[in-house]
Amino acid sequence: MSDDCLFCKIVAGEVPADIVYENEHVVAFRDINPQAPVHVLIIPRQHIATINDLEPGNADLVGHMYLAAQHIAGVEKLAERGYRTVMNCNQDAGQTVFHIHLHLLGGRQLDWPPG
Ligand code: 5GP
Ligand code: ZN
Repeated sequence: MSDDCLFCKIVAGEVPADIVYENEHVVAFRDINPQAPVHVLIIPRQHIATINDLEPGNADLVGHMYLAAQHIAGVEKLAERGYRTVMNCNQDAGQTVFHIHLHLLGGRQLDWPPG
């Protein structure tokens, strides 16, 4: 837990969130400013600031983030039509919350390349 981290506070239940899935590794909740009909953030319970801070010992954890995305995509009926998962890193990618999070976006045709 990092004291001034918004997403650690969501994990701890100190900041409310619309949680759609959680297990011992991850918590998933709806983005407060959704960019698609379905926009869920999947975060590890453990505080890791950016992709740059991942260590080899986090490999399973990253796998659990993707398995959660797969599960939620199924529940949200996105699996067949498709969806996108994105993890932004630092300034050029527009990262604003420095606790890694996997965006799960779907429910509309998504443009490529991204802006
Ligand atoms: P980033 O730009 O860092 O990849 O994504 C951060 C995301 O967190 C943004 O899509 C933003 O809308 C979302 N977000 C920021 N603050 C909150 C909050 O308090 N609650 C929720 N549910 N999402 C948030
Ligand atoms: Zn954190």
